[in-house]
Amino acid sequence: MISGWGNYPKINANIVSADTETDIKNLIQSFDSVIPMGNARSYGDSALGSNILSILPLNHFLDFNSTEGILECEAGVLLSEILDVIVPQGWFLSVTPGTKLITVGGAIASDVHGKDHHIQGAFSSSLISMEVLLSTGKTVRCSPKTNAELFHATCGGMGLTGIILRASIKLKKVESAFIKQKTIKAKNLRHAMELFEENKKVPLTMAWIDCMKRGKNLGRSILYAGHHATVEECREAGIQNPLTPNIPAKRTVPFNFPSFALNSLSVRAFNFSVYRKHFAKIRENLVSYDTFFYPLDSIYLWNRIYGKRGFTQYQFVLPMKSSAEGIDAILKRISKSGMGSFLAVLKQLGKENKNLISFPMEGYTLALDFPISKKLFPFLNELDRMVIDYGGRIYLTKDARMSAAMFRRSYKGAEKFINYKHKIDKNNIFKSLQSERLGI
Ligand SMILES: Cc1cc2nc3c(=O)[nH]c(=O)nc-3n(C[C@H](O)[C@H](O)[C@H](O)COP(=O)(O)OP(=O)(O)OC[C@H]3O[C@@H](n4cnc5c(N)ncnc54)[C@H](O)[C@@H]3O)c2cc1C
Repeated sequence: MISGWGNYPKINANIVSADTETDIKNLIQSFDSVIPMGNARSYGDSALGSNILSILPLNHFLDFNSTEGILECEAGVLLSEILDVIVPQGWFLSVTPGTKLITVGGAIASDVHGKDHHIQGAFSSSLISMEVLLSTGKTVRCSPKTNAELFHATCGGMGLTGIILRASIKLKKVESAFIKQKTIKAKNLRHAMELFEENKKVPLTMAWIDCMKRGKNLGRSILYAGHHATVEECREAGIQNPLTPNIPAKRTVPFNFPSFALNSLSVRAFNFSVYRKHFAKIRENLVSYDTFFYPLDSIYLWNRIYGKRGFTQYQFVLPMKSSAEGIDAILKRISKSGMGSFLAVLKQLGKENKNLISFPMEGYTLALDFPISKKLFPFLNELDRMVIDYGGRIYLTKDARMSAAMFRRSYKGAEKFINYKHKIDKNNIFKSLQSERLGI
């Protein structure tokens, strides 16, 4: 049985892999349908299908220009492997999501965003070019200027246009492996959004929200605002080797938790302890990049905490003009439901890009985890209607249940994407459970 990170849905599938372009080409041509899979960190069914092609064996670095900060590698290389090489040489990923345990191919196919989206944009903003193997057996290099249609359909295209084989990405120069972070307590949602506005020029921002709170404390949160620390800031903090990362030890969740372990009382206790830890209203300190960007990676297999039935992450974005009202209404609805999320993250997103079905739009995005239960899906359908009414959409890489109608209504480029996909993949070879559900 195989599943995405949410352990829902779990399916039986034929999983194959190959480590050369020719073998991958032959494999693709031997199947009626296939979907590429990276490191399976997408939560739902976007990398699941009856035939799954693992891209992990494509794990070679091809070139690293450490003067210009340009890296060329195969699509199965993990972001963690890239960081291990580039950080000691004074470079960092221009865009990184909240886990480094994903492949370059997965980062492109989901056009992932990080804490700097309001300034830097999504992963594709740092993508110089890539090579994509089409269902015809032809490999095409594309970039924002060359074969741009393929580029904008493949970035965010969830593996449905072809197999990303190789990519060339632009890195960001840094002076240290540390982040200077400020944590600020926000009384409620409105206060949190004011803090985001005040910190708009700070390169890295996100807030952790306690979504069990009600009334005037609804949206009580902690905002994290940071930047890559300078050599000077490291010295002041007593760090002698600024480019040597200080990676925290990993812990593990040894088995699936029983589902009663995650009732609303335990969620309340968890939320309260995190908020209490930040007793000062504002705190400033220096932390390793791992602590700042990837706190969840330090708990190996933390997804098991949701038990055997698994969970889904509901991540939506609302446009700037309706964010305050819409997120307030949705949080109220979640709080009333008592189905409380273990983890809720609020981020400000910047401008939309040209990719046909990339998730980000200018506004705020909220991500919440929900353990799978009988009551859950009707409830999420209700949230979907609210998201649509406020002009928003749901993130495909987290999704396991959105309807085709919701996809078409909320992604403006959906129709163009579907038409283009079928133009270059006439027999609809690249197919996932998600693409079938969404009528792609
Ligand atoms: C703890 C955690 C935190 C996260 N935080 C964030 C975040 O902050 N921001 C964010 O945007 N995302 C976030 N994510 C989601 C994650 O970044 C994406 O789901 C990412 O796409 C996973 O990459 P992967 O290599 O595991 O790909 P998979 O999950 O295996 O696949 C994801 C999609 O990419 C396609 N794909 C994979 N490889 C290729 C390839 N070579 N060619 C073509 N298509 C391919 C698959 O078909 C599938 O549609 C987070 C996930 C976790 C578990």
